[in-house]
Amino acid sequence: MIARTPAAWQAPLWQRRLAEAICDPAELLEMLGLDPSLLSGTRAATQDFRLRVPRGFVGRMLPGDPADPLLRQVLPLAAELEDAAGFVADPVGDLAAAAAPGVLHKYRGRALLVLTGACAVHCRYCFRRHYPYGKASLAQRDLAAALDYLGRHVEIREVILSGGDPLMLGDERLAALVEALADVPHLRRLRIHTRLPVVLPERVTPSLLDWLGGGRLKPVVVVHANHPNEIDETVGDALGALQQAGVQLLNQSVLLRGVNDDADTLARLSERLFEHGVLPYYLHMLDRVRGAAHFEITECRALTLHRKLSDSLPGYLVPRLVRELSGAASKIALPIPALPLPI
Ligand code: SF4
Repeated sequence: MIARTPAAWQAPLWQRRLAEAICDPAELLEMLGLDPSLLSGTRAATQDFRLRVPRGFVGRMLPGDPADPLLRQVLPLAAELEDAAGFVADPVGDLAAAAAPGVLHKYRGRALLVLTGACAVHCRYCFRRHYPYGKASLAQRDLAAALDYLGRHVEIREVILSGGDPLMLGDERLAALVEALADVPHLRRLRIHTRLPVVLPERVTPSLLDWLGGGRLKPVVVVHANHPNEIDETVGDALGALQQAGVQLLNQSVLLRGVNDDADTLARLSERLFEHGVLPYYLHMLDRVRGAAHFEITECRALTLHRKLSDSLPGYLVPRLVRELSGAASKIALPIPALPLPI
């Protein structure tokens, strides 16, 4: 029998990094040399949706800059507590789209599995920040019912793993799930929406690449990067490994006030992504979730930014500007104006 030494029991590196993530706003500000008064009035916002950010992601923030675009995405602010008309708990109608436990079926041809509510980072603009994951995620006991639903709907060609962040689950469970999905004959593609390759690139391990790249379903990974500073060398290596495993890489961003609402930043993001084999896919208007109103920019300004982006990049580097509307049959693409609009 092999001795169970402490080293043999050590969790994988990504799980140890996760355990070391910053959850205390005061500690985060101290690490960045910022004034603790930035936290005044934020206690309720933190209780509502707590801070969580991996140390590696903090390392890409600029010390001493309270307006750092990466910091703005994760730091709780008092503005989250202000009421704003039209900002609600479930802005995209997820709950109405529940088709079976843990299964959302909004659009013809694809269905989404909500695997977990856990994430490595808590994005303050998250459209699922109020989602009732406890009762609406796919529990192991409901897997057979979910597979049965997918099996009966022969029009579904693509399954999307979502959450929370689906890659927060361990490889053993994910590999078993993907194997079960591959047994559903009409499925063609497996899409994973995850922020982990960007915020915790250590998650891209050889065992992840094995189950992701080695199955029957064509893998597509949609990473969520909003700003070029999110993509450093370690992220580039993780993206390169995914690409080498045969994964089609796409990115979707959310247009966020004070983070990426200028054309130069968006252009640099597209260029940086493409250097690492990622195609910019969607640029989302903010989903109007309660607590995130301070991130919103107007549609007119978004269209102007998108026009400028289109003028400065080849078409394949320009993400589609879209909005998700509750109950709509697909994402709604916003038309690019022929000329820049006044901001
Ligand atoms: S990683 Fe995705 S699901 Fe998790 S908080 Fe951020 S936006 Fe929301």
